[in-house]
Amino acid sequence: MTSTCPTIFALSSGRPPAAIAVVRVSGPHAGAALKALVGRMPQPRQATLARVRDPQNGEVIDEALALWFPAPHSETGEDVAELQLHGGQAVIAGVLEALSKIEGCRMAEPGEFTRRAFENGKLDLTEVEGLADLIAAETQAQRRQAFRQLKGLIGDRAEAWRRRLIEALALVEARIDFADESDVPENLVEPALRAARGLREEIAQSLADAGRGERLRDGLVVAIAGPPNAGKSTLLNRLARREAAIVSPFPGTTRDVIEVHLDLAGYPVTLLDTAGIRASADPVEREGVRRAQARAAAADLVLWMTDASAIGGVAESQVHWPPGAEVWSLANKIDLVTRTTSARNESENRAPAKQRINRSFTISASTGRGIDGLATALASYAAAYFSATESALVTRARHRRALEEVAAALDRALGQGEGGREELIAEDLRAAATTLGRLTGRVDVEDILDVIFRDFCIGK
Ligand code: GDP
Repeated sequence: MTSTCPTIFALSSGRPPAAIAVVRVSGPHAGAALKALVGRMPQPRQATLARVRDPQNGEVIDEALALWFPAPHSETGEDVAELQLHGGQAVIAGVLEALSKIEGCRMAEPGEFTRRAFENGKLDLTEVEGLADLIAAETQAQRRQAFRQLKGLIGDRAEAWRRRLIEALALVEARIDFADESDVPENLVEPALRAARGLREEIAQSLADAGRGERLRDGLVVAIAGPPNAGKSTLLNRLARREAAIVSPFPGTTRDVIEVHLDLAGYPVTLLDTAGIRASADPVEREGVRRAQARAAAADLVLWMTDASAIGGVAESQVHWPPGAEVWSLANKIDLVTRTTSARNESENRAPAKQRINRSFTISASTGRGIDGLATALASYAAAYFSATESALVTRARHRRALEEVAAALDRALGQGEGGREELIAEDLRAAATTLGRLTGRVDVEDILDVIFRDFCIGK
């Protein structure tokens, strides 16, 4: 950062009013700004109690803890000043106003502090993403994954891979550049390809986690499906413990897909209530059915709900089971079932999908009977599903695409084989290294930076 770079400031803590508000200042004028507000420079990295004054008229705005982190040992890598103020609206407004009048200082844009940390080499791009995920994490499993990424789990691995690739590339290039010289060994391509093969295997392992790291960010998708009026919305509300879906005694009123995010024993689960799956002449309802089927088609688990007290089932042709999903059958409204109706409906209600049913539950969504057992089963299913993510490297589609590209380039290089053209092998190894560099943000990433940083809030 040059000294012409603007000094930025922002409220970095949550929405006021609150007990404490943290205002951060970063950039070449941060020291001058701090001195203008509190009258002196605190010892580096030591909390100091100080009166904060408006530099223009000397009026005391608040008493605060002031902190001073001289570059480069700060979060952004620049000079950073931090004030821990009382978290009132007027206090914060007064301090931000005073800062805006100091020369060279302006309000920060969303993600600008983190962007500076990235530009000063404090965080690589995957770590920036980990930080964004940590702030967005809603469950403990998401938090753990985000924290691992913030601490460089994938970034460090990608960088180590890139170094190994560059070493392999150097061997091939030495062979090309000094082909005529007698003291350069002939067999440089073979060790380079051996290194590429090892790397290819490690990348294949990272890609083989079936997208579970990515799923952990978004949540396991559980779709509640079944005929209208079976009690799907009632179940969703009971599991979500709030009125998220409209419960109606008339068939076909849940016209859209309603989703709620649940934290089940620390794992994120997105629960979808799909519109009544049935043939309909009403175009609005048909659209609801289409969306329901599309969302349910991407589900990891389908809860197929039927009304155990009703007569008749659903024709198999109307049911679109997601190919890879597990299916649990839920016989609902068990409170209405007498021994005779139960016997009569057993075959009709369950027949369509018998071969796909992995587990069966008998519940009453309205009285709550059997719901605890179902919730426990869902939590263990999520825990088992995500157990492999403890070591997941790939947490975003961006990572997956990059690693797939690297694998393809390595395959091309390996396809050349030892007798292949050295120039072509070198080109593919170089492409693979460049792609890894883009993953961590070391090379050529301007276009993706804006996308990543705009998701941050101001003050981060
Ligand atoms: P959906 O169309 O599948 O979403 O069904 P709803 O959740 O809207 O429920 C349809 C009707 O069945 C409503 O009147 C609910 O109160 C009722 N209902 C849902 N679950 C139960 C249950 O377990 N027992 C009884 N007796 N009624 C239920």
